[in-house]
Amino acid sequence: MEQRTRQPEPGYQPDYFAGNVVPEPGAVLTLAPGVHWLRMPMPMALDHINLWLLDDADGWTVVDTGLCNDDTRQAWEQVFERHLQGRPVRRVICTHMHPDHVGLADWLCRRWNAPLLMTQGEYLSARLISAGLEPTGTEGLLEHFRAHGAAQEHLQSLAGRGNFYMRMVPSLPLSFQRIEGGQRLRIGAAEWQVIEGGGHSPEHASLWCAEQRVLISGDLLLPRISTNVSVYPIEPQADALGRYLRSLERFDALDAATRVLPSHGLPFSGVHGRVRQLREHHAERLQAVLQACSHSALTSAELIPLLFRRKLDTHQLGFALGEAIAHANRLWAVGALQRELDSDGVIRFSAAEPAQPARVEALARTAAGLAMPLAA
Ligand SMILES: [Zn+2]
Repeated sequence: MEQRTRQPEPGYQPDYFAGNVVPEPGAVLTLAPGVHWLRMPMPMALDHINLWLLDDADGWTVVDTGLCNDDTRQAWEQVFERHLQGRPVRRVICTHMHPDHVGLADWLCRRWNAPLLMTQGEYLSARLISAGLEPTGTEGLLEHFRAHGAAQEHLQSLAGRGNFYMRMVPSLPLSFQRIEGGQRLRIGAAEWQVIEGGGHSPEHASLWCAEQRVLISGDLLLPRISTNVSVYPIEPQADALGRYLRSLERFDALDAATRVLPSHGLPFSGVHGRVRQLREHHAERLQAVLQACSHSALTSAELIPLLFRRKLDTHQLGFALGEAIAHANRLWAVGALQRELDSDGVIRFSAAEPAQPARVEALARTAAGLAMPLAA
């Protein structure tokens, strides 16, 4: 079994069961009884987000909101006009706190006098960051990245960008209804179970409908791009990658025929193959990090070229550094790396023992979510 999980899975391809057709902004595509797909544009490299409209008896439940901008508001207005059949939006669920998911939550909730449903970790984090409370603001991020060896020019362009989150999420509803892992929500005729996961954001909620074998995966499971896993200054020693890998295990338990509705990309089936591929992806990267750190003590910033070969802009560089820290922290958490401060106060990681190939492979496999703590 373990041998098999180490093999790359070049043969795995997501099965796009709904084809290549995507809904235009303001339009709706029905994917399952009572489950409708909306897609909103985004003015960035990742150029869209998928949202979901669920039949909810005499109204509708919305899952995720899109970015806070006029294009998205206009697309929503078209949906309201053409597709709600005179029934109101009753609830707004946000899978997590990122601006493309929660940006218009305040507007939607006010527009329909509807409550916002989120996990507590996501809601409170969103409030904290949108209030600019350090260290979640610019200063804290700069210090965090400086401590992990970010180049001066990267820090300068980040400082110039200012508080991105506050601009993208200018307001949020002042109260919320808590959802949590394992909870069952009755939405119209269907029952949806909340599956909580971490690593990408504090307490991300995916929604699973066993009867229809449909998973609204949010950002935790995407067909093509691997979910960003980051370490943030408010929890600088977090084992975010460990949390993410453990979250993936929850998707192992789902039916093999599950249709996955992701926040980005096309709806797909083949949940188990995709989970294996993501484990494989992170195991390879952990192995590369461990090997590099067995030659010299490296900063997380120095690990970025190992993990990302393409050229990155300021925004992407931030994600990349967060991801590099997450891989280093994972190996540190299982005792495979040690960390020390150099004379500049920068954190450097080095292998805790000579990196023998077989041992390195075993470490990477262990770190890939098999939940077996390493002996020191
Ligand atoms: Zn996200």
